[in-house]
Amino acid sequence: MTVTQFNELALSEELHRAIADMGFETPSPIQAQAIPFLLEGNDIIGQAQTGTGKTAAFGIPTVEKINASERKTQALILCPTRELALQVSQEIKKIAKYKSKLFAAAIYGGESITRQIKDLQRGVQIVIGTPGRVIDHITRGTLNLDHIQTIILDEADEMLNMGFKEDIEKILKQLPEERQTILFSATMPQPIMEIAKKHQKSPKIVKMAKTELTSQLIEQRHFSVKSHLKNELLTRLMDFYEWQSMLIFCNTKQKTAEIAEFLIQKGYAAEALHGDLAQNQRNIVMSKFRHGQVQILVATDVAARGIDVENVEAVINYDIPLDPEYYVHRIGRTGRAGRTGVSFTFISGKESFKLRDIEHYTKAPIPAGNIPSSRSILAKRKSQLEAKIEATLLEAQSEDFVFSPQLEAVTEILAALTEKGFDNQAIAQAVLHLHAGTSLQLDKRDIDFADDFRKNRRSEDTGRGRNDRYGSRPEGRSERGSSYGDRNTSRGSSRTTTRTTNNLRGDMARLFINVGKQDKVSKGDILGAIAGETGIKGREIGSIDVFDSYSFVEVPKAESEKIVRLMNKAKIKGNKVNLELAK
Ligand code: ADP
Ligand code: MG
Repeated sequence: MTVTQFNELALSEELHRAIADMGFETPSPIQAQAIPFLLEGNDIIGQAQTGTGKTAAFGIPTVEKINASERKTQALILCPTRELALQVSQEIKKIAKYKSKLFAAAIYGGESITRQIKDLQRGVQIVIGTPGRVIDHITRGTLNLDHIQTIILDEADEMLNMGFKEDIEKILKQLPEERQTILFSATMPQPIMEIAKKHQKSPKIVKMAKTELTSQLIEQRHFSVKSHLKNELLTRLMDFYEWQSMLIFCNTKQKTAEIAEFLIQKGYAAEALHGDLAQNQRNIVMSKFRHGQVQILVATDVAARGIDVENVEAVINYDIPLDPEYYVHRIGRTGRAGRTGVSFTFISGKESFKLRDIEHYTKAPIPAGNIPSSRSILAKRKSQLEAKIEATLLEAQSEDFVFSPQLEAVTEILAALTEKGFDNQAIAQAVLHLHAGTSLQLDKRDIDFADDFRKNRRSEDTGRGRNDRYGSRPEGRSERGSSYGDRNTSRGSSRTTTRTTNNLRGDMARLFINVGKQDKVSKGDILGAIAGETGIKGREIGSIDVFDSYSFVEVPKAESEKIVRLMNKAKIKGNKVNLELAK
């Protein structure tokens, strides 16, 4: 019963107009599935990654079902943070734009309760709030739950992570029995399922398929690096790619503060975003980020969750996420709305198994990326400095140029030095030497870095990539004597393939197979099984990559469905297998 167009939904004219004003053309997959169920009054458990339009998925049916001529609170939306409560209330207000008698109010901690009481007294049909403050209002008698018909738990898993379980239970218990209970969560851990079981009536489950987890628009790479060299690697990548907006994820708030501090000291426009920040600090940080004054947010999963930031060019997983689902949420911040993005994941020591988990979960390979050589960084710094100097020279030539007090001092210094017999060339050299300092020198530590990188490189990580910008060496041949060693010495013979896996031809499809080296399966076994079972000729089959616990194989697109169907009944080297279309 999913729909493909908004006009297939039984919505009032006011809502159709508001949706059009919001610029939504077609419903997102979660909206297409959830809205019809919700309009019918069903309870629902919705699970989809960040940025898939969950707010409108519950917002549209909720607004539609409000009786606007009654000034009683009919819907309550619980969100984990003030930031999210505000975002949701803004979206709800947009959806309700043409419902003139419909009012919504956001109530959250950290803000004067009197303003909120006034709002509530005016009579608002939809209340969006954080659990603690909602309880506050219930206790004071300023929020009446008697007429609630719909309760929504948005980002339910995050609310539990933040310790709101008891508050949520308390609120749910006080609601009328006859009501619709809507639960949206990015992940579905046990405690969420318990809440669903206890408080929902035969909920419909709307879940996005795993194959849609990561976007094709995101270049995913991993970097194997010693932990103490992560900062080095980070700034190297930042200097090379010059991202204008990026998110760096760490697993602890201490780490976010530490990395932000490090970056600020190095002169980057960075800020930490973690759960301990006071609400107004959070708002300031977010607003600076949206306006480009801060280009880098260093965040924890909790702090970043649900925050709707557009246009992030790069996501760096400074710490590999603890859970593969987190990975999906993190990188969902980039590659949005048709734009491309990058996701770089740092792994240290024994973390490669976590990378495997993620690849397995998303069914998409994350090949090794290459560290830009220090020569290329140096070349960049040189040309930047040159450009800066040139711009200043040009500025000084212009007619309306006014000397600032510093420039007057500069002129005086110059005159004094000339007096002492130095010529301009010599003075300029000395100034540049002082100014550029060590930033124009090759860093000696590069060598350690490279050794480490080579040692840790796994045999099958040949850095193949669909996009040369990230997949291959940034500078063709010039890496000799630079950061990463000769790859041919890195156990080259055990590489499984030299063909590119990501660079799929348009007429080929890549299949994921749930067996690999651990199952004693080789390329030949896969080739033989597919050819034998399906009648496809061996030469029609493209590259085959065998990893520890799974493999990828390229097959002609036109045959892919048939191959999946037939192979799922077959065995490879005695193993029953599961094949799926990969990304
Ligand atoms: P989620 O809660 O799943 O993380 P949001 O509800 O915050 O996602 O939506 C992410 C962004 O996508 C928002 O800017 C929202 O306005 C936009 N959006 C939602 N639905 C659509 C749609 N059908 N078409 C275009 N943009 C949409
Ligand atoms: Mg959301």
